[in-house]
Amino acid sequence: MLQKKILLNESEMPTHWYNIVADMPNKPLPPLHPGTKKPVGPEDLAPIFPMDLILQEVSTERYIEIPEPVREIYKIWRPTPMMRAYALEKFLDTPAKIYYKYEGTSPSGSHKPNTAVPQAYYNKKAGVRKLTTETGAGQWGTALSFACSQFGLDCEVYMVRVSYDQKPYRKIMMNTFGAEVYASPSNRTQAGRNILEKDPHSTGSLGIAISEAIERAVGDEHTKYSLGSVLNHVLMHQTIIGQECLKQLEYTGDYPDIVIAPLGGGSNFAGISFPFLRKNLTEGKPTRFIAVEPASCPKLTKGVFKYDFGDTAGYTPLLPMYTLGHNFKPASIHAGGLRYHGASVLCSQLLKDGLIEANALQQLECFEAGVVFARTEGIIPAPEATHGIAQVIREAKKAKEEGSAKTILFNLCGHGFVDMQAYADYFEGKLHDHFFTDEELSANLPEIEALQPTVA
Ligand SMILES: *Cc1c(COP(=O)(O)O)cnc(C)c1O
Repeated sequence: MLQKKILLNESEMPTHWYNIVADMPNKPLPPLHPGTKKPVGPEDLAPIFPMDLILQEVSTERYIEIPEPVREIYKIWRPTPMMRAYALEKFLDTPAKIYYKYEGTSPSGSHKPNTAVPQAYYNKKAGVRKLTTETGAGQWGTALSFACSQFGLDCEVYMVRVSYDQKPYRKIMMNTFGAEVYASPSNRTQAGRNILEKDPHSTGSLGIAISEAIERAVGDEHTKYSLGSVLNHVLMHQTIIGQECLKQLEYTGDYPDIVIAPLGGGSNFAGISFPFLRKNLTEGKPTRFIAVEPASCPKLTKGVFKYDFGDTAGYTPLLPMYTLGHNFKPASIHAGGLRYHGASVLCSQLLKDGLIEANALQQLECFEAGVVFARTEGIIPAPEATHGIAQVIREAKKAKEEGSAKTILFNLCGHGFVDMQAYADYFEGKLHDHFFTDEELSANLPEIEALQPTVA
């Protein structure tokens, strides 16, 4: 009988996160203070993050132990299943073997709690009482609300207006876990009021929501801020995904030729890829890693590698990353988690060094792939996840043309049960492709250039 699910016991759950910085040939450039243009020190970040997380952010240690209380909570949904996509393979009539790691079994329905739980844990340990954050499609806000409820922390979420209106059930999920949720831009912060003054009907962006959440955290000594992607420590927490996959693939005797995941800020892509990329870097394995972004927000394939702010108001340090400019406002596509102007520093450096690849796909191809996946494998994917699936289908078709039995692994980073309006719009023909233009980038370039440190 063919084995469909590859499961691990709780006792096989990895005990350590993997920190790729230890193995990167070119280390990431330091974040800079926007005023002095000098590298930021741990003390600069102390008003918004607890010291344990700041130390992880700058750590060069290869493995960091997952604290016992975090592992206990992980057990609610971890280890997650890895599946062989037999029905999808058959539908595509491909010789490729397709595996997917399913992160939709978590309390919020995506990979996000993998970092929400440790972030809440380290904040609680530091005596923090409340966390603020932003959320796009609502996945991250839900994950942090859940994590805060586990540790008795208050949680205040700024939700991008377009998603707040598109995905009302996400707000109710967050409320159920005990969080307060505000549509962003809001009147509760200076950053939000500035935007609303210029554009009272602003549909918001992740960059604006981040500014609002940071502003609220800086204004109160018992409150800190939590980010769901982009930062080094967030990507590291997600490596439990790939660490599990390594063990699960051992049971199959297969090893991936290609690893695929969608990329918003880079955390789920890093999570599934970095433990395998370690084997490329240290054992000479030839696996390809493909990050998939939406064509409407193509920072990896069309952006510039420059220092830029992580948020719209410019509250964050300057980060060296592929960016479309911190004022870039992506089209209101349904894959809310992918509507971010920049990519994590780690993924950006790895792409620059040619160690990972990137591709940008249009949303109609992605939804078509999502529907194929639902009708073959029986899971309705999150709109973000459909980007990975569309790339998998492309690679599986290529494998068929080449007659090669490639092994493809992808991260099914979340289910789409709270994104049904997106599917409704797709079926009703209301969705269309968005073409990013060079003008959109050149409009933001002067602003980015002004932020660069002058070479001494
Ligand atoms: C947040 C999210 C993403 C994008 O964020 P990354 O940090 O790039 O992983 C992708 N898919 C889902 C389901 C998400 O919730």
